[in-house]
Amino acid sequence: MTLKKIVIAIDGPAASGKSTTAKLLAQKLGYVYIDTGAMYRAFALKALTQDVLERLQTDEAFLRQFVDSTDVRLSESSVWLDGKDVTTEIRTNDVSKSVSKVSALKAVREKLSAIQKKLGEAKGVVMDGRDIGTAIFPNAELKIYMLASVQERAKRRYAELKAKNAELGVTIEELEAEIRRRDEEDMNRAVSPLRKADDAIELDTSALTIEEQVERIYKLALEKINDCKGAVQ
Ligand code: C5P
Repeated sequence: MTLKKIVIAIDGPAASGKSTTAKLLAQKLGYVYIDTGAMYRAFALKALTQDVLERLQTDEAFLRQFVDSTDVRLSESSVWLDGKDVTTEIRTNDVSKSVSKVSALKAVREKLSAIQKKLGEAKGVVMDGRDIGTAIFPNAELKIYMLASVQERAKRRYAELKAKNAELGVTIEELEAEIRRRDEEDMNRAVSPLRKADDAIELDTSALTIEEQVERIYKLALEKINDCKGAVQ
């Protein structure tokens, strides 16, 4: 059976389990998964590598040239920055710490928004981020806003880093503080701040396993697909 194609937008604060859930959900539906956070992370990685984080905030002409000359692509589960595979590099804690400074820049958002809108044009996508249901696909057939307590999110992020055997210099308390700070920045920026779309369904994942999260959204997706006039066959 081929499922009809809709757009599923999943937004929510940092480390709320969006990407793992969205990826599994896309697999289950035979949809494409698009991790928009990875695109902002790639920009942040370049800014860090070139040591221009501060300059991007103050030098408009430099920012424009930086954005125009940066090529970010997603393919399968890899992220490419200017032709180089940066899938692993964008996950470091240094990138997590500075990404909100880069994602708040209007020129960066404009460039990535245009790419994301194009990627979702043919529908059949699960896209996760901060502004998918509000700015990228305000007409998405299904919008989910995922959240969890900050303590739970820090615990999960810590376990994730530990499993990868990376960044073990960081404590759960530090991760919690970092997550709080990043949410604060993402919610209070001028352009497309993180907020729940009025028609998004809230899903608190604090007490749910990944499988339960996927199952809940999958059921909602099937309902939408079945009664959706906007879906593409
Ligand atoms: O999803 P992830 O935590 O990897 O996102 C990294 C950062 O990218 C977020 O903290 C946010 O600053 C930015 N972001 C955004 N809009 C999106 C996706 C991510 O501003 N749609």
